[in-house]
Amino acid sequence: CVFWVSDIEISRAQTPKPVDQLAEEIGLLPEELEAYGRNKAKVQLSLLDRLHSQPDGNYVLVAGITPTPLGEGKSTVTIGLVQALSAHLKLNSFACLRQPSQGPTFGVKGGAAGGGYAQVIPMEEFNLHLTGDIHAITAANNLVAAAIDARMLHEATQSDKALFNRLVPTVNGVRTFSPIQISRLRRLGISKTEPTSLTPQEVSAFVRLDLDPSKITWQRVLDTNDRFLRKITVGQASTEKGQIRETGFDIAVASEIMAILALSDSLKDMKDRLAHMVVGTSRSGGPVTAEDLGVSGAVAVLMKDAIKPTLMQTLEGTPVFVHAGPFANIAHGNSSVLADKLALKLVGRDGFVVTEAGFGADIGMEKFFNIKCRASGLRPNVVVLVATVRALKMHGGGPNVSAGAPLPREYINENLSLVAGGCHSNLKKQIQIAHLFGVPVVVALNVFKTDTRAEIDLVCQIAKTCGASDAVPCHHWSQGGRGCLELAQAVKEATRRPSNFQFLYPTEKIRTIAQKVYGANDMELSPEAKSKIDYYNQQGYGSLPICMAKTHLSLSHMADKKGAPTGFILPIRDIRASVGAGFIYPLVGTVSALFRVNRPVTMSRAGRKRLPAVSPAC
Ligand code: ADP
Repeated sequence: CVFWVSDIEISRAQTPKPVDQLAEEIGLLPEELEAYGRNKAKVQLSLLDRLHSQPDGNYVLVAGITPTPLGEGKSTVTIGLVQALSAHLKLNSFACLRQPSQGPTFGVKGGAAGGGYAQVIPMEEFNLHLTGDIHAITAANNLVAAAIDARMLHEATQSDKALFNRLVPTVNGVRTFSPIQISRLRRLGISKTEPTSLTPQEVSAFVRLDLDPSKITWQRVLDTNDRFLRKITVGQASTEKGQIRETGFDIAVASEIMAILALSDSLKDMKDRLAHMVVGTSRSGGPVTAEDLGVSGAVAVLMKDAIKPTLMQTLEGTPVFVHAGPFANIAHGNSSVLADKLALKLVGRDGFVVTEAGFGADIGMEKFFNIKCRASGLRPNVVVLVATVRALKMHGGGPNVSAGAPLPREYINENLSLVAGGCHSNLKKQIQIAHLFGVPVVVALNVFKTDTRAEIDLVCQIAKTCGASDAVPCHHWSQGGRGCLELAQAVKEATRRPSNFQFLYPTEKIRTIAQKVYGANDMELSPEAKSKIDYYNQQGYGSLPICMAKTHLSLSHMADKKGAPTGFILPIRDIRASVGAGFIYPLVGTVSALFRVNRPVTMSRAGRKRLPAVSPAC
């Protein structure tokens, strides 16, 4: 019986094949691999050039219905599906997953390596540190934060000349501008390249960014859920000469630099995006960028290895790329464009790449289409929509499910009317959302041991009447790839159907998402949000796509409204911009980019061990 064997025991019982053997099997050259120990390796981006003329494989997106706080099994379905396609149908297949954040890993939700007999191994390496990408992002982000405060201190306390000497030092008797400084001079309309030729006015314009401390949008980040850092005061040492200001910490995986890592399609693209990150506004109202601060080159160097996806494998030896990060509620929460592109080339025309979008289709999938597909130019063939009987019962009117508490009896005993209610509300709505983008949907019902035959049949039958091209039960958690064969066949079949992909919005973006995706009557902008829209339009960011920051626990902004709520007005509290990443992010309702703590912790899903009592609700 598998039900009392923990995920970590299953993971440790399997010895992964050496990563160089895995790499050879999937067609990588030894020089394209950078091993990090025995079980994982980064893959060189030069592979894209070598496989340039290779046709792409089929592109499958795994999304879900609105989840319970426990997660409904998107990662396990993604892994089970590639195990079935690869080990059982003998088709080249690749999974593209996101690297988990330490917040959920040590919290209520646990790791993200999958579970049961559908896992990426070794689980501890996947869940903790991996190849250091999140550490690199944290270092890069905090370098920018340090540069902001140091720059404001220096500008407040030093003359133009002293600032100039600091920024353009004499090295071996010679003073020269760096390429980044020349680019700043050009933006100021100064075409000179010789430091001694600048007039005093030009020196002053060059050295003073004149950041408005009340308009700094850049926060420090950390990958630990340390709630006491949400709001902090910096500059309290006597050496900081009274430059005190309030700021705070966000979680590293929801940072703009993580978004840039996920959306870049080359090293050069990443460098450009990093340079364009806007950190705040000057007192005269202009945007101040990482390039203006002179740190974008250093940030790019810190990120030079993080841009390469990490190769690992499933329990059945299927290749997996792990790259970018989670949190589709406050970030865009998809794996990277580069991982997907590399995998699509590696599997070739008849192969399959299965990539995962976070949380429910209303947020993870919507952002996959409107943001990631816009950046990558890639178009998916099929959406696999993961549902569970327990989440459907919750949407059908069952009591709330909370992490750590025992499941109410409605979730353990058969209850067809709750299941039907959830299918006709949330499942139907999420299928319709995928259809808005013109992509066929296969519903994957992730079967739990408490689900009855009648409940399983009911979900599959209603899903088809709601427009899914197929709906099948999946037993990968207890059986591995073999238990996902029916889904693999259904996905293969669905890729033969036409996918008429289209973006959702050309204009009126926030209202379009609010009405067409979430089911709102309308949206309402706070005065702050209205003035931000005007400001971003003036700055020329009006054409950027939208990355909504909204609760993942409901289609609406109200976490306790389950099913498919209607008749509500979506409140937009504030709007921020990630100009380098290339999107605008409205903050919906009370959602925040800072840490939020759910409840004292219970059991970690990762290892079924007791772990520290904090968890972000992201
Ligand atoms: P998501 O990606 O949607 O957040 P996961 O795939 O990470 O969800 O699964 C959430 C948790 O539920 C994991 O601990 C996993 O082991 C467990 N789980 C998933 N599917 C099943 C199942 N069919 N039976 C029992 N536990 C499951």
